[in-house]
Amino acid sequence: MEISLQNQVAVVTGASSGIGSGIAKSLAAAGATVVVNHSSERSAEEAKAVLKEITDAGGKGITYACDVSKEDQVVKMFQDVVSEFQTVDILVNNAGIQKDAKFTEMTIDQWNAVIGVNLTGQFLCAREAIKEFLRRGIDPSRSVACGKIIHISSVHEIIPWAGHANYASSKGGIRMLMQTLAQEYGAAKIRVNSICPGAIQTPINQNAWNTPEALNSLLTLIPYNRIGQPQDIGNLAAFLASDLADYITGTSIFVDGGMTTFESFSTGG
Ligand code: NAP
Repeated sequence: MEISLQNQVAVVTGASSGIGSGIAKSLAAAGATVVVNHSSERSAEEAKAVLKEITDAGGKGITYACDVSKEDQVVKMFQDVVSEFQTVDILVNNAGIQKDAKFTEMTIDQWNAVIGVNLTGQFLCAREAIKEFLRRGIDPSRSVACGKIIHISSVHEIIPWAGHANYASSKGGIRMLMQTLAQEYGAAKIRVNSICPGAIQTPINQNAWNTPEALNSLLTLIPYNRIGQPQDIGNLAAFLASDLADYITGTSIFVDGGMTTFESFSTGG
């Protein structure tokens, strides 16, 4: 049994770093042509480095700068990708940020920035992707599905997170966005799912792992006793995007080393 994404085009948002770069490499290794999205020219070099790893390994793709929270930029990105590669088969809605603050000190800018990228960005990209899936229709030479969307959510779509109300709200919102799209477009054979990572070693959470003390404290939350790697998420994304996962839609899959078993209850409660 082999995961194959041959002849398919995947847009991975926020692929210049961390989890997105791991997903982009996994999809490319499975045969997809990958659009390595990043937010602006500021991160162009990081995006090019990810693309170079992909092409050095025999894969295909391009980099594309687009701020996913901006409607005009997202519409243009999908137009440009379709004009270059004829269509889009897979969207991985991964771009995300944190702007943490105690709730009573959280500014409207911190709230809007996180909701704008993490939730509105996923809405805008999903809307443009689904329009393209419906325009193209099912092409069995590509996939038995009309299109696939993978939202990168978080364990915080179900675990409340003090000091991160904007982030946790964005991830809770993604759960309902994902399920609603899966319901609305199931008959059109568009599959929509979420991956919910636990603690993955990336720049977004480096304060949680960049000292031995911080890492030890983090590991008390993880029964499997290791921090996750971008590849752990990339492996599942490639499977979910493939026809091997054709009966999976409308669900959240947690990739968290057991974090959502609530480890603190192993000795208490
Ligand atoms: P990361 O290393 O900081 O990467 C974030 C990526 O998002 C970067 O490529 C960044 O690109 C991109 N991005 C940010 N704002 C953007 C925008 N407006 N438009 C387009 N791209 C934008 O973080 P990560 O840990 O890989 O996080 C990726 C996703 O996983 C996020 O949705 C995050 O919430 C989720 N997640 C992470 C963890 C974890 O433990 N790491 C756990 C659960 C969920 P630029 O540099 O170009 O801005």
